[in-house]
Amino acid sequence: MLRFECNQCGQTVQVGAESAGKTGRCPSCGAAVVIPDVPVLVVEPEIVDSAAPQGQSTTPPPVAVSAAAVRKGTIDAEGGSLFAGILILEIVIVSIGLGAWSQSWFVFGGCLVGMCIMMAIKPLAVVLGVTLTILAGVVGWVLGYHAFESVAAGVVLALLGCVITAGTSAAGITFFRESAR
Ligand SMILES: [Zn+2]
Repeated sequence: MLRFECNQCGQTVQVGAESAGKTGRCPSCGAAVVIPDVPVLVVEPEIVDSAAPQGQSTTPPPVAVSAAAVRKGTIDAEGGSLFAGILILEIVIVSIGLGAWSQSWFVFGGCLVGMCIMMAIKPLAVVLGVTLTILAGVVGWVLGYHAFESVAAGVVLALLGCVITAGTSAAGITFFRESAR
């Protein structure tokens, strides 16, 4: 068992040793907390000041974090940051593409900054996600149709591009919004 103090509310949290180093949610205040590798709070009955009245603990009783909550927190953080990375990559690729097409560094910089600002504003982030999805579809179609000279390959790659981009955009935007809070 590991015991540590929530850095948000100070509640003593108790988890299984297998959760060391993972991220979980504080059962008291709901804040995301990183579970330490080693117990940082060791309250043994024998080191409690003998002058204190018997049977009175100086810390609140520990609350157990469920293993499922720990796992969920870890997956949310890891998956979210991966999708956020892919989303940034997509934004950079689109910016480079538009910059190269217009042969202007201002277009490249403007797109990059513009799309990053869009991600911070929810309705615009949705517009951005839809735009990236459509772009991925067009790129998939062009690649499939011209590389394989087949309408079917174009349709399949277009659909694939749309599905992947829609998924990563939605997850990435959610991650940015959660992190910004
Ligand atoms: Zn807490």
